[in-house]
Amino acid sequence: MSRILVTGGSGLVGKAIKHVVETEPEGSPFAKRAGEEWIFASSSEADLRDPVATEALFDKYKPTHVIHLAALVGGLFKNMKYKLTFLRDNSLINDNVLRSSYTHQTSKVISCLSTCVFPDKVEYPLNEEKIHIGPPHDSNFGYAHAKRMVDVMNHAYKEEFGCNFTSAIPTNVFGPYDNFDLEDSHVIPGLIHKCVLAKKNGTPFVVAGTGKPLRQFIYSYDLAKLFIWMLRNYDDVEPVILSVGEDEEVSIKQVADAIVKAVGFEGNYSFDTTRADGQFRKPASNAKLLGLVGKFEFTPFDQALDETVKWFVTNYDNART
Ligand code: NDP
Repeated sequence: MSRILVTGGSGLVGKAIKHVVETEPEGSPFAKRAGEEWIFASSSEADLRDPVATEALFDKYKPTHVIHLAALVGGLFKNMKYKLTFLRDNSLINDNVLRSSYTHQTSKVISCLSTCVFPDKVEYPLNEEKIHIGPPHDSNFGYAHAKRMVDVMNHAYKEEFGCNFTSAIPTNVFGPYDNFDLEDSHVIPGLIHKCVLAKKNGTPFVVAGTGKPLRQFIYSYDLAKLFIWMLRNYDDVEPVILSVGEDEEVSIKQVADAIVKAVGFEGNYSFDTTRADGQFRKPASNAKLLGLVGKFEFTPFDQALDETVKWFVTNYDNART
């Protein structure tokens, strides 16, 4: 019998894991197994910044495994404005979750880092060895340092107490249940929302920047499967980057084109080249992942985007906007 507690179970990635666990057909390596109980916790059940609430959550469920996704997450503006809050809240959440996992003798914890935590000045592609070799970008140093410390704590828990704690490092995630807020969201959900509104209001769809920067995007349902794979197959403290390959980078223009097509937008569509582009590329290597998992079929980008747009349009009234 295993009881898997997913913290951050109400967010983009948590909902994707729930979806995969509930919908994968029997026989799939990602399907729910007999004897497994999955618990998806949100902040309303326990504020994980609070050690007492965290202990109470662990007392209630007595998880054998934890997928730890809960975090204060935000776009660039929020990260820049609230650096101490990002540092403190995420440090408290991570410390409490790992501590309670240890005191409750949880047999495995996979925590979630992000490729945003890598050093600012680094040789690309990013890989699992480069997390700590230089300071993170100034814009998100609160979030980045709190997340980096998870890797440090995982090693310390292993060395002092022999715990089986590890971490996953996803690249940019998108999919159903994302945060589609116009001001404070990641690029894909923000552009989807903008394009849907432009279609509805008969206004132009304007994308900030030249559209040339390249990024690796992973569909939340693919990421969910990789978390489930890690849960069942990976028992090493060192992190694993969960991403599509470097050869699957897409430009912001490709993203915007795919959104225009999926939304069915036929109005005026342009790029505001007076707006900043951000970094041109920051590729991450998925060589370690592929070496471990063997073959993994990522959902084609256009299909994943089309599914996300359809989900947003259908769930517009309840989506996080
Ligand atoms: P979301 O913002 O969609 O969800 C965040 C989750 O954390 C929610 O379930 C939220 O609960 C929970 N949470 C936040 N604060 C607390 C708290 N104080 N106590 C308990 N729970 C809390 O995030 P994502 O699903 O996008 O991110 C999941 C993980 O993946 C995070 O660790 C993030 O850093 C990482 N990541 C995300 C990427 C992305 O592109 N989205 C890229 C790389 C990594 P509630 O709903 O109740 O507020």
